[in-house]
Amino acid sequence: MEKRVVKFGGSVLNTYDNIKKIINVIKSYDKNLIIIVSAIKGITDLLYIIAKQSLKKKELIFENIKKIFNIHFNLISRFDIKQDRLEAFNTEFRNRIDNLEKKLLGIHYLQEIPVQTLDEILSFGERFSSLVLNHIFNSNGINIEEKLPEEIGIFTDGKFQDSSINLTKSSKKILNSLKDKKNYIIPGFYGISDENKITILGRGGSDYSASAIAYCINAKSLDFWKDVNGFMTGDPKVIKFVKEIKKLSYEEAAELSYFGAKILHPRSFEPVMEKDIKIRIFHIDNYKKLSTPSTIITKNNKINENVIKSITAGNGMGILKLSGPGVGIKPGIMAKVTNMLNENHINIKSILTSQISINILLSKSDLNKSYKLITKTNLIAVEDISKRENIGVIAAVGNGITKKYGIAARIFNSLAREKINIEIISMGASPVAIYLIVKDKDKDRALKSLHKEFFNENN
Ligand code: ASP
Ligand code: MG
Repeated sequence: MEKRVVKFGGSVLNTYDNIKKIINVIKSYDKNLIIIVSAIKGITDLLYIIAKQSLKKKELIFENIKKIFNIHFNLISRFDIKQDRLEAFNTEFRNRIDNLEKKLLGIHYLQEIPVQTLDEILSFGERFSSLVLNHIFNSNGINIEEKLPEEIGIFTDGKFQDSSINLTKSSKKILNSLKDKKNYIIPGFYGISDENKITILGRGGSDYSASAIAYCINAKSLDFWKDVNGFMTGDPKVIKFVKEIKKLSYEEAAELSYFGAKILHPRSFEPVMEKDIKIRIFHIDNYKKLSTPSTIITKNNKINENVIKSITAGNGMGILKLSGPGVGIKPGIMAKVTNMLNENHINIKSILTSQISINILLSKSDLNKSYKLITKTNLIAVEDISKRENIGVIAAVGNGITKKYGIAARIFNSLAREKINIEIISMGASPVAIYLIVKDKDKDRALKSLHKEFFNENN
């Protein structure tokens, strides 16, 4: 039976009007849907703050619980809910709220936040949104059943804060749990470990949940409904005249997400690309236009005449530089460094080496910790270790980038005209992306200039 997976992001769940639009969207599919939801916008951040505040005064816990309670209760109260539904909702809502309260009190008495408790607390945002929506939908002509990740078997590798889904292990149980001819609503963002512990999938991880579920049930398509357009030729916050990109390949979309486009979680592509399940991105205001998504992502590896399809940038990264004569050719240094970062769960974004230096690109949030770890490690031939935060990473993405001549020259010329110095450039590591590192302060100017070069628009 044909099933479709549909994900609604947190920023479309926060108002009465948006939920009305969502109801319309669901009805217009006219198919059985598996709906994955994020927490309501802001709730995950709030849960994080609340967890920390629980270390302080006990009264704060009750105040904060009230806040969370009210946000969800006020939302459902705007809708007409049938009496028996309302009772069911109240009982289960109370139940989940009490569970959250217990975890927070636990933190207070322990005077510490064990990471497994933090994961559990953060997962409540999705449990609340899915519960609220389940009852709203059912009272508005949509028959739907709520299933939790622990029930249907979304198994993870057990890594707290940033786990990966074990697709092979999850597939069978998920397929079986969702086989009935029904609509289901499932909270995103978390799964369970082999030891039955809740582990979250990293911030923004509900997109990844949706993709994994689409994989497991062999969905026909995976749709994301958001309050922004799909992928664009550039960052609309920096460039005025950006255009929507109608078609992208999985690889292109993955690189754009990895390097800064905040449309989908960078891991949302892995599961579905294996089975060639198409991704479609919709703006919630286009809820009447199910046939015209903003962006469609498929295997399609067409090379555009322009080659470059989008330019993105982020300043969430930093560089760790190890220098010394011959570091690039001394065997063993790289293995030592990468093993050590790996053991400390630090993800390396990219590595560029030369005879005299090794540059490691990391998330800014991992930079200080990595620097400390590396300075404590005994590395032969390394004479200097430095870290830099004030960088901007720009990625130009498009199929054929490494096949067609002249692209790099256009990039260099365009930035030279603006007198922007490129500090590092990497080409060839990905078949669809070139990335360059400039000073943080030059990032926006560089983006504008490259966008103009490739899309011929005045900014
Ligand atoms: N609620 C989680 C977050 O804010 C996951 C998500 O929204 O995708 O990170
Ligand atoms: Mg998101």
